[in-house]
Parts: sequence; structure tokens; C-alpha cells
Amino acid sequence: MCQKCMVTSDHCNSNYPASIVQDKHKDPTKREFIKRTSAVLMSWGLLATGLVNASESKTVNEKKRIIPKPENVLTPDQALERLMQGNGRYVSGNSKPLDFHDVKTSLVKGQNPYATILGCSDSRVSPEHCFDEALGDLFVARGAGNYLTNDNLATIEYSVAVLNTPLIMVLGHESCGAVKAAIDAVDRHRDFPGHIQLLASAIAPAVRTVSEIAKVSDTTEDRLIHVTKQNVIMTVERLREKTPILDYYHDRKKLKIVGGIYHLDTGRVELIA
Ligand SMILES: [Zn+2]
Repeated sequence: MCQKCMVTSDHCNSNYPASIVQDKHKDPTKREFIKRTSAVLMSWGLLATGLVNASESKTVNEKKRIIPKPENVLTPDQALERLMQGNGRYVSGNSKPLDFHDVKTSLVKGQNPYATILGCSDSRVSPEHCFDEALGDLFVARGAGNYLTNDNLATIEYSVAVLNTPLIMVLGHESCGAVKAAIDAVDRHRDFPGHIQLLASAIAPAVRTVSEIAKVSDTTEDRLIHVTKQNVIMTVERLREKTPILDYYHDRKKLKIVGGIYHLDTGRVELIA
């Protein structure tokens, strides 16, 4: 069974290089998988983006390409600092003007985003706007309620292993409709039609956790923001524990995973995890 595409090896259509897929099918243990495939993964990612430096092997250097947006090559701490500085500009009304013509040439042949955002689909919370960034800066996975699915986990792993993104932020926000739905589903044992129930069920553990461990006043708004924060915190925890690929980079200090809440009234992003 392939741990990535969750089918038998005969039907695996994973996009991993063949050597990685073959190794994973032969050896299911996490540590040995990481040991045997990390070099392949690293070189694959570097070659895919052109992100190589002088210390890399001759083979890699021979295939070196121009780095798109070299200012985006950052450490995890630098990436977080830049992200929060951008939010500061946005909050103060000093966002930089966006000009597609400034970046289009550098991005035609590749991308080099410095942060990955797992955010809610809510139309009031746009990562590029609230962090005052341009094309090519942020790799974004969005879905109502910003909870983790296998599909957006694949997106996140791709951003880390292939694009070398050093920072993941899970971004929730005030007055989230998906979180409200989850609270409603738990309180009233309500089933939503179609696939909507999926998001309520995914966030339900955060609702229950807040009910069990938090001393929360029973006002609707207080409870909503507490569950929203808990959902972000639990998603961050899942990402930190979820996969060998993220573990590999996280353990080597090449990746930071944080959580934030966007305040609708001020535009400020509050770091909470
Ligand atoms: Zn939302």
C-alpha cells in the first residue's frame, strides 16, 4: 500500500520520483524511509525550483537555473518575520502597490514562495492581501474552516519538499462560518446536506476539546473564537506530527509551522501557535 496515494503499489500514481515510490512500497517504516529517500527528495526539490547554492554537488550545479525572486530564499524565522511585517503594513494602510509587470518575467519559468498558508476560503480573508505580498510569494491552500485534509496535505508537502518553503502558517479568522456550523452540528446533532457535513465533522473535535478543557464563558462570540483558535492549534499539531516529509524538514530546523488568527475588524494576524 502506497502511503501517499493510498492504493496498492500496482495502481500507485504518486508523483514522487520512481525511486521514492519503490522504496516506500518495500519499506514501510518511517525512519528508514526518511533515511533512504531524503537525498532523492532534496535534490528533486532543488532541481524542480532551481534553488541550488554553491555548496551543492557538481551534478546539481550543472543544472542550475536562475532563481525566481531570490529575495524569497529565507530561513524559517526570517520568513515568519517577513510575513508579520507584511501584515503590519496591511494593518497600517501602507501596503505596497501591486504591479503584475514587476514580477511576470521572473515567474514565467518557476516559483519560489517563501511561505505556505493553509487558510479559510472566506472572502474576507485573502492571504496575499493581509500579508501584503505579491505573485510568487505565498503558496496557498484554502478551504472553509482551514482544517487538514489529505488533499491539502499533499499541497503542503509539495510546497515544502519541492518548492523548499520554510514556513507553514495555519490561518483561522474571526466569525468563521465553518466553525459556527461545527458548533451547531455538535450542539444540536445536526446533519448538513451534501458534503457540507464534512467540514462540520472535521472541526467537531475542536468544539469538543474546548467544551472539555476550556473555562469559557457561554456567550456565543467567546465560544466561537475559542473553538476557532483550538481548530488552528489542533491543525498545527497535526501538521507537526503528520508525515515523514514534514518531519524531515521540521526536525532539521528547515521548516517552521505556526498558527494565526485574522481579526476582521483590524486586519491584524495574531500568532497563537
Ligand atoms: Zn472561515
